[in-house]
Amino acid sequence: MRLIVVGGVAGGMSAAARARRLDESAEIIVLDKGPYVSFANCGLPYFVGGEIEKQESLLVQTPQRLRAALNLDVRPEHEVTGLDAAARTVTVRSAAGEQQLSYDALILSPGANAIAPPLPGLDSSRVRTLRTVDDAVALKELATDARRAVVLGAGFIGLEAAEALERRGLDVTVIELAPQVLPPLDTGMANLVQDELTRLGMTVRTGVAATEVRGGSDEDTVVLGDGTEIPADLIVLSVGVKPATEIFEAAGVTCERGAILVDEHGRTNLPGVWAVGDATASLDPITGARRPVALAGPANRAGRLVADDIFGHPTARPIPAPVGTAIVRVGELTAAMTGANKRTLTGAGIEHHTVDLHPNQHAGYFPGAAQIALSVHFRANDGLLLGAQAVGIEGVDKRIDVLATAIRAQMSVSDLIDLDLAYSPPYGNAKDPVNLVGMFGQNVLDGTTRLWYAQDLDDVRESALVLDTRSPAEYATGAIPGSLNIAHTELRGRIDEVRAAAAGRPVRTVCASGMRSYIAHRVLTQAGLDSATLSGGMKTLRAWLGSRTREELKEGKSL
Ligand SMILES: Cc1cc2nc3c(=O)[nH]c(=O)nc-3n(C[C@H](O)[C@H](O)[C@H](O)COP(=O)(O)OP(=O)(O)OC[C@H]3O[C@@H](n4cnc5c(N)ncnc54)[C@H](O)[C@@H]3O)c2cc1C
Repeated sequence: MRLIVVGGVAGGMSAAARARRLDESAEIIVLDKGPYVSFANCGLPYFVGGEIEKQESLLVQTPQRLRAALNLDVRPEHEVTGLDAAARTVTVRSAAGEQQLSYDALILSPGANAIAPPLPGLDSSRVRTLRTVDDAVALKELATDARRAVVLGAGFIGLEAAEALERRGLDVTVIELAPQVLPPLDTGMANLVQDELTRLGMTVRTGVAATEVRGGSDEDTVVLGDGTEIPADLIVLSVGVKPATEIFEAAGVTCERGAILVDEHGRTNLPGVWAVGDATASLDPITGARRPVALAGPANRAGRLVADDIFGHPTARPIPAPVGTAIVRVGELTAAMTGANKRTLTGAGIEHHTVDLHPNQHAGYFPGAAQIALSVHFRANDGLLLGAQAVGIEGVDKRIDVLATAIRAQMSVSDLIDLDLAYSPPYGNAKDPVNLVGMFGQNVLDGTTRLWYAQDLDDVRESALVLDTRSPAEYATGAIPGSLNIAHTELRGRIDEVRAAAAGRPVRTVCASGMRSYIAHRVLTQAGLDSATLSGGMKTLRAWLGSRTREELKEGKSL
């Protein structure tokens, strides 16, 4: 049996290593067009920023070590340029020339390439991408003498690159065509990340495209659609990736928008050909849509399962559809998400509720307590968990990982109440944020809580009485214009006042983070008023409004 693997990094090398562990007799050849295999693509930004000091640290394995440990025939700088599925051969180009290699089984894990939009000037030597070790070395070198950097694209890798360059002391401007940074996040969460980028000293421009890179002798100039010109010594192009599949598609591998279509075992339409990783389309378990998931975890795991399928391992099983759990550090903040976001759910017509919370990452009385902005979506009819996002200083990874596990286990939001999570004051709360999500969620499902959302602000202001249940001192720092302020502690004695001010309109309650307004909502509901409480309170509202906060809430002005 001869197994050929195209691409020797995440998916490809996982498959090759597993294949060897299953079959000592197989001949396993790994071909990679680059000079390195098994390198830490995810570590590249941290090498650029200087936290990973040595280039060698990025090289997790070498061909020599892979030969010694696993008897793999690893061939760097061997590019596959053709596939003849009928003859079961690949064409390989290397320094030695071109050759045909036959295979019994072929695994394609060629990853993805950086998208280069059709902008004039992208061929400037000051424009760089960040995909390979060589890219990272070149970027680091260029950054040494640079003062100003522009990062085109505020996705996960773009922001990691921006953070790395800021860490090196450069003036960084981030440009994003979408109306927000980190487009997979919900708007409010993304605004928190944007605030952090600004706090770090970066300039962030969203909702605007770069239209040209104008080359110059001392510097380049990035020209934006609105006419802004930004001088730059260094430009990072990070506007997305596309599967590196052209030659395979040309050879008859079925693709959808460039991503290889595979069945649940990673098999392509061609006999004897499997595919994994960034190059493939996977099923979104929440919406049923097919889309590529460019993440290391799913690629590594699929590689292992594809090897199981090829070698007929007794526990071979279908590749689970990845929920797309992702995390990024931006300055002091961590932002993470799992499952679907609100846009995706709305687009797919999935009726859902969202709970927004701001719990501390650990006991409030223990030094260093800080809030996490946590947002969880669940199906309206039965509470099935659909997606979660979190932004905070600490404890974000742990909560998103628990929620990712719960989504995978197809739990409902109410199931979260009963999760027995580790607690002592430095680590969590007796009611962990995840348990709180469960309690809030169950209240929403059974009607104990009725929510209104930040995005309903205009409608609510037009049609309802907004009752702000914070203290007068908090209210004075900024509030929804036209709202009535009665602290929740006084509400029981002043219900007639609320009824009179509402004059038959519904009452929509507000507080700082949603707890006091929830109590008020319960008081009002039991007094016979039509009431709902703002999910996540003013914190979520401010995050959602972003740069419009001052204007919309008349912050700092008397009402
Ligand atoms: C800067 C950066 C940071 C990232 N950070 C994270 C992170 O923090 N978390 C996360 O989950 N994911 C992260 N990712 C994404 C993650 O690295 C990828 O999802 C993962 O590596 C995909 O694995 P793969 O096997 O599909 O492709 P890759 O690991 O990209 O490997 C593909 C290999 O195939 C080779 N190849 C392509 N075409 C051919 C050909 N025709 N012939 C021979 N060889 C070929 C390429 O040279 C490449 O080495 C990051 C990626 C980058 C670039």
